[in-house]
Amino acid sequence: MMGPAHSLSGAAAWLAAGAVAAGYGHPMPWPTLVVGALICAGAALAPDLDHKPATISRAFGPLSRLLCVIVEHIAEAVYNGTRMKGDPHRNGGHRTLTHTWPWAVLIGVGSSAICVYGGRWGVLGVLFVHLVLAIDGLLWRQVKGGHQLIVWLLAATGAWILADVLKDPGNGKAWLFTQPGQQYLWIGIPVVLGALVHCIGDAITVSGCPFLWPIPIGRKRWYPLGTPHFMRFRAGSAVELKVLMPMFMVIGGLSCVDALGLIKLR
Ligand SMILES: [Zn+2]
Repeated sequence: MMGPAHSLSGAAAWLAAGAVAAGYGHPMPWPTLVVGALICAGAALAPDLDHKPATISRAFGPLSRLLCVIVEHIAEAVYNGTRMKGDPHRNGGHRTLTHTWPWAVLIGVGSSAICVYGGRWGVLGVLFVHLVLAIDGLLWRQVKGGHQLIVWLLAATGAWILADVLKDPGNGKAWLFTQPGQQYLWIGIPVVLGALVHCIGDAITVSGCPFLWPIPIGRKRWYPLGTPHFMRFRAGSAVELKVLMPMFMVIGGLSCVDALGLIKLR
């Protein structure tokens, strides 16, 4: 899928997680629901850090373009270094290392650690990065013209305000993990969820996604998982724009209403 569909699916996934959590007796305070949805929308773009034309490589100017090149080289090296007989040799690392579960876990744990140990500035940093991505993904029509400076200002202001809202007792910094020292630990969950949803999104398009690496399937360690071939569609096709994106909006909207307990769907 393309950036906008990825980020929309990320936001919808977190809102759905909010509805599920409410069902299991851990309702999210509204700031957790909102901040988590934005983080998840941003995190759902992050695996394409191995792909220069992707939204994420433009998000932070030369810095993200450079990071993109580095990540792609590392991904390519890991691919060719760990491939088995059935995996073809390849040039370029797109849809390899950053599209696997170990990567999702790594960035999730990393984000939680930054927020738990980094204090306010750690939370602000993680929020800022994901808000920039979320704005680039969700408001892509408005951002298309290249007003990246405005996006950064908007994300910085948003991160500042949301970090303040989250901080107050009962507003969600201690959602799910309630012991002392576990504040903001939950922030890793939308990061992991965003990466997983991205992989699912790629698995239903033509190319598939080697999500299970390094667990081998047959003679392949980079087996491109996906739906049956006749069901797959091209990234950016009408199915994505006219069917999936409206569907994500409906799922997200209903889940949000349910997660906040505004109406009882259960
Ligand atoms: Zn991807």
